Amino acid sequence: MTSHGFHVLFRDEDAEIEKGGAIFITGKRFGQSLYLLDISTQTIQEAAKAAMSIGATFEIWHERLVHVNYKTMKRMMLLNAITGLNVIGRPDAETCEPCILGKMH
Ligand SMILES: [Zn+2]
Repeated sequence: MTSHGFHVLFRDEDAEIEKGGAIFITGKRFGQSLYLLDISTQTIQEAAKAAMSIGATFEIWHERLVHVNYKTMKRMMLLNAITGLNVIGRPDAETCEPCILGKMH
């Protein structure tokens, strides 16, 4: 995400994802290490609705959520941390090649 010009800011109580001064996603801290993202922010609302209404596999959501690790994704699903996260099929996945390659650097 940051390689595409987005800036991610985590503060004690909240988080923001912005690009060029426009805030695309905001979130509130939930617990000690999890932030609840509000992806209904006006600027991305239509794209998010389209993506969520269709639903996608666990692997596709993993990619859409910028390769968040599987354990965190399962935790977000369990806590309903993202409204509209429509996962089709079982919440499991094989290994993700881009993630493996990213860890080699
Ligand atoms: Zn990945």
